[in-house]
Amino acid sequence: MTDVLARLRELQQADLPTHGGSTLAYVYDSGLAEADELGRQALALYGATNGLDPTVFPSLRALENELVGWAARLLRGPDAVGTVTSGGTESVLLAVQAARDASPGITSPSMVLPSTAHAAFHKAAHYFGVRAVVVDVDPATFRAKPAEMAAACDDTTVLLVAGAPSYAHGVVDPVEEIAALAADRGIRCHVDACIGGWVLPYLRLDGVEVPAFDFTVPGVTSVSVDLHKYAYTPKGASILLHRDPGLRRAQFFASADWPGYTMLNSTLQSTKSGAPLAAAWTVVRHIGDDGYRRLARTAYDATRKLAESAGAIDGLTVIAEPATTLVALRSDERADVFTIADELVALGWFVQPQLSFRDQGPSLHLTVSAATADRLDELLDALAKATRAAQEAGPVQVQPELAQAAAALDPATLDDAAFDGLLTIAGLGDTAATGTLPARMAPVNALLDVAPPRLREALLIAFLDRLMRPS
Ligand SMILES: *Cc1c(COP(=O)(O)O)cnc(C)c1O
Repeated sequence: MTDVLARLRELQQADLPTHGGSTLAYVYDSGLAEADELGRQALALYGATNGLDPTVFPSLRALENELVGWAARLLRGPDAVGTVTSGGTESVLLAVQAARDASPGITSPSMVLPSTAHAAFHKAAHYFGVRAVVVDVDPATFRAKPAEMAAACDDTTVLLVAGAPSYAHGVVDPVEEIAALAADRGIRCHVDACIGGWVLPYLRLDGVEVPAFDFTVPGVTSVSVDLHKYAYTPKGASILLHRDPGLRRAQFFASADWPGYTMLNSTLQSTKSGAPLAAAWTVVRHIGDDGYRRLARTAYDATRKLAESAGAIDGLTVIAEPATTLVALRSDERADVFTIADELVALGWFVQPQLSFRDQGPSLHLTVSAATADRLDELLDALAKATRAAQEAGPVQVQPELAQAAAALDPATLDDAAFDGLLTIAGLGDTAATGTLPARMAPVNALLDVAPPRLREALLIAFLDRLMRPS
């Protein structure tokens, strides 16, 4: 028995650290060991429960209703109802699906998104056949432009989307204006507060001036907020809130078209573990409003200081003033951000490279957890060192012929052998075979960066296909 656990721990050695504040994407660390321990115990207690039917595990129903009530209070929807989902993506998928199915008369539905909307909306478009009409954001502020969004609406529009904040740049869209457009047209407006929904309300309580984004804004019909981000709960928990029960109805699914039990689901999953829900409830109850207020303030102050000091490092610029706890940085022509990210890895810090998009160059994304606050000086020191080292090395050069060839490739015409060749050229051939990433990702990222979006997607799918093979 101890052997298999020992093997697990051994395998985990290769993973990114989930705790300690040095990983600035993917994971969220409150720094509260007791909250983590309680979360783990709840996961263990509830691992075998099934959320398929809330009448046979009444404890799960009670936990879900309590958590949703907490979120509804936080996001100020007195009549709001909601559902606990497996994550932000599932919350977004369900918001889009409900908007689509609430307008059955529209045979070719569409939704209007700012270009900074999370990729989960494109996934929803792909899964549910809701066309994504993408509108550029303001190039100076990275916030959505309501007038352009209004112009993009037509008779097929079933949903408008705003971010609070956007993941890539950490700015809050003009929710009031976007929601007013939706109300005027009698359509839905979803506020994606997956990453900010558990931070902004607590910052407001702590005296920070917070832009309007929640159900107090007329026209906002649904809000998503992830618990496994800034509620610091174990992975697998998010909440989708609707302003009232009528708006949620189309999200629910029942099927009597088979000989088994009548299927009745509130989410994409049917059988679903009660563990993430129970763990989220436990951590939220344990940390409580006062705890979250302190955690939000800690992460926010650290983010402001990080942005200020990182922006003062020679060669780095903060892309947009952070509204919450996210910072995006770009570098000048002396260095590329991919090399800075590699240098940071060597110094024990993980930040997330963001590739070029439309007319914006590549950048670095930093999600600041409360646990990072204690180590801010260390992080800034590493960032300065990494930037200097990247400047000394100079940007990774992609051969112009290679970039040209990439631009001319139509991924739809490529076969498996061609993808094998391309992955080798991109420096991912060995990784696809062994699963171990190259020590330096900058050459890989620089090449992906010059690949047109469709080719980039196709290459990464080919990569994933090779990576995920049974051993
Ligand atoms: C994280 C995030 C999502 C997607 O959430 P997952 O939990 O990764 O599925 C959607 N929108 C925003 C703004 C996010 O930050």
